[in-house]
Parts: sequence; structure tokens; C-alpha cells
Amino acid sequence: MFDTLTDSFTSAIKKIRFHDDDKALTKALGELKKNLLKADVNHKVVKELIADVQVLTKEKGIGKDQFLEALRETLYKLLEVGGNKGFTFAPNPPTTILMTGLQGSGKTTTTGKLATYLKNKQKKVLIVAADLQRLAAVEQLRQITTQIEVELYEDEATKNPVEVVKAAMEYANSKIFDVVLIDTAGRLAIDDELMDELENVKKAASPDEIFYVADSLTGQDAIRTATSFKEKIGIDGVILSKYDGDSKGGVALGLSSQVQVPLRFIGSGEKMEDLEVFLPERIVNRLMG
Ligand code: GDP
Repeated sequence: MFDTLTDSFTSAIKKIRFHDDDKALTKALGELKKNLLKADVNHKVVKELIADVQVLTKEKGIGKDQFLEALRETLYKLLEVGGNKGFTFAPNPPTTILMTGLQGSGKTTTTGKLATYLKNKQKKVLIVAADLQRLAAVEQLRQITTQIEVELYEDEATKNPVEVVKAAMEYANSKIFDVVLIDTAGRLAIDDELMDELENVKKAASPDEIFYVADSLTGQDAIRTATSFKEKIGIDGVILSKYDGDSKGGVALGLSSQVQVPLRFIGSGEKMEDLEVFLPERIVNRLMG
């Protein structure tokens, strides 16, 4: 999944020749910088990463091993924002998650993927159809939940997502679900109406966490919209969707530090199994080879 980024790192690392001097370090850093920018990592993130690796390598003593160690530590620091731990269960079930995102970002599909991930962990999951803006969203969830054999809460009688969520939460508490995933409405762009609706749904659900689904194909826009959602309703994690179609892949590297919210999962395909937990240690190991 991180093939492009891994290639960038390994090709940068391969070209590094150290003869224990400053010039070699400058060259190595230049090579790394070029590759990271090519992979579409945000330029500010690249600048900071390069500066940190430089300082840390000098502290350790200039040499290839020290450089690689400095790079590994800096990368880990970059990705490890706010204890990046995949899915976190609340002490008292159900763990309630509000799934948010712009229309077309992959929010509904990702809700199904997350339910699959949890079901595979033997958790009893309820999906709540609270996206009542997009006509096909409820039907899409019906198909997904039938396919993955997860229960769906829906109410065709109302167009008010707050009513649906309130009733769904009562239902979830009475039936003892482990996790409730609420699929909320998205729009093509962020506007006050969308944010007001989300704010009301948030109040009704009292979620343990709010996830924002960001489309990696929108590049730095994914970062901007995630930041906007964070400022307006508060988000606890980002799920980066459509990573399989992202030929550069650098967004994943800068996201946590740019938005200051942990990247929790990565979506890498249209199938329900195509979701991977984003664990910094594992990613750094992969990138460093
Ligand atoms: P929503 O409007 O945000 O709920 O978006 P949908 O869940 O309907 O997804 C929009 C499109 O993106 C659908 O065709 C999905 O199959 C597709 N999609 C979602 N996630 C991924 C992913 O990780 N990879 C790929 N290739 N397609 C995805």
C-alpha cells in the first residue's frame, strides 16, 4: 500500500554515501527532500522533517547508520500524533462513532469497512443511516449491511437525522451493541447548513469519537477540509480513503501532523476488507525497509 512512498525512501537511502562529513549529510538530505516533494508530501512538513533529521544526525554523529536512525525517529515523531492507535473502545459499550466527510469522500463505504473490521474482532455492530441528504445513501447502506451481515438502523418515516439518531441510540442501548457507527450527511463543500446538522446529530449521539473520512485523491484539499471539520465540530481521527488510487501517497505522511489529529485507518479499495489500521511503527518499518 505504501509502495510509492517506500520506493522514495529506499531510492533516497540507496544513493546515500557517507564518508563521515557534512557534505555527505547535505547530499543525503537533498536526496530525501527531492523524493518526499515528488511524493506530494506537504512542503512545510518536508522542510521540518529535513531540519529535524539534520539536527538529530549531527547529534548522533554523522554516518549512514546514524542518518537512518535519525530518519526513523523523526518519521515516527511525525506520524505519532495523539497516540495513534487504530480503533479505541469506550469503557462502557456501545462505543459510538460519528462518521463524517464530504459527499463522495467514501464515507458510507468506509462505514461498512469499519463495521467489517470490527465484526472480524467479534464485535456486535449497529450502523445507523443518518445521511438523509443523499437519496441513495440509505439504499447503499442496506446493500452493504446485507452483504457484511451487520444490523442497520433506519427510519424511512422521517427526514430528520436527529430523530433517527436519538431513536437509534435508545435501540442500541437496549440491545447491547458493542459499537454504533453513525453515517452522517455530507455535502459537496463545507457549509453552515451541513455543520449545523452535524452539530445537532453530535448532540443527539454524544459520540465517543468523530471520524473524518478524507479522500486522498484530493491531495492537500483533504488536509484543508479535515482541518475545517476539526475547527467546526471537532474530530478525533481521520480515515484516508482511496489510497489505492493515489499514485504519490505523500498525504498520509503529513496528515497527522498537519491536522494535529491522528490518522487512524487507510482505505485501499472498494471492497469491504480494504481497510488497514494506520500504526506509525508499522508504517515507519515499511518505509525504512
Ligand atoms: P460518500 O458519498 O462519502 O458516502 O461516498 P461513497 O461511500 O458512496 O464512496 C464514493 C465512491 O468511492 C464509491 O464508488 C466507493 O466505492 C468509492 N470508494 C470508497 N472508498 C474507496 C477506496 O478506499 N478505494 C477506492 N478505489 N474507491 C473507494
